[in-house]
Amino acid sequence: MDSNGKLKMENGKLNNFIPVSEIFYSIQGEGKYVGNPSVFIRVGGCNLTCSGFGEMGCDSFYAVDKRYKNEWKNLSIVDIKKEIEKYLKFSPDLVITGGEPGLYFDRLYPIIKWFKGAITIETNATLSPDFEKFPAFKKVAFAMSVKLSNSNEEYKKRVKTEVINKIAKNAKKSFFKFVINKDLKKEIEDITAGIDLPIYCMPLGASKKELENNAPFVFDFCLKNGYRYSDRIHIRLFGKKRGV
Ligand code: SF4
Repeated sequence: MDSNGKLKMENGKLNNFIPVSEIFYSIQGEGKYVGNPSVFIRVGGCNLTCSGFGEMGCDSFYAVDKRYKNEWKNLSIVDIKKEIEKYLKFSPDLVITGGEPGLYFDRLYPIIKWFKGAITIETNATLSPDFEKFPAFKKVAFAMSVKLSNSNEEYKKRVKTEVINKIAKNAKKSFFKFVINKDLKKEIEDITAGIDLPIYCMPLGASKKELENNAPFVFDFCLKNGYRYSDRIHIRLFGKKRGV
């Protein structure tokens, strides 16, 4: 795979596998579709590190930090479909999360085309699919969690205006989802200027305690600015447990 997630030849063969940290059935705990029974595919690997989000970086560090790479499984589209099929009797949504799914947009496309229910892709919105070549991505809701300065990432790495605009223009069910622990209104305004999509803010918190500390401020911040509040139900109920 190259740095943009395009397929590349490895040992003379096209590498079609997707590194997957976990696949599980749960309830969506945050964002626009909170409460929906969903199958989650968590891909391994990310193009950011977000060291500002706690000592381990982000809340899904085990799908980002290369030290956990030996836990990831390289799965084919057939393998992934088989896992999803186990839960189709519940008519779930499909949530593709990470890590950063954008690294594998081309490889994920057969799943996007095949799955009949609602699909959300949780992304840092620094990489875009090719909507002309892969038009089924237009039916996907992209949860654009554009990283703010509290992620400690460099601005030019974390904010890709052309990508955000392209996703907003092509995938109309999309929304913004910002991680907040202080007043970052100016940054949110700059990123969302001219884009008519819902804006959700959720408390920074990879642990229950951290979430509880930040939630009251984010609640007020949303009220004052007309943003939508998103909690993180899975963190409240299960803390740092994986697969929930
Ligand atoms: S972009 Fe998301 S998955 Fe990647 S390191 Fe940052 S918080 Fe973690």
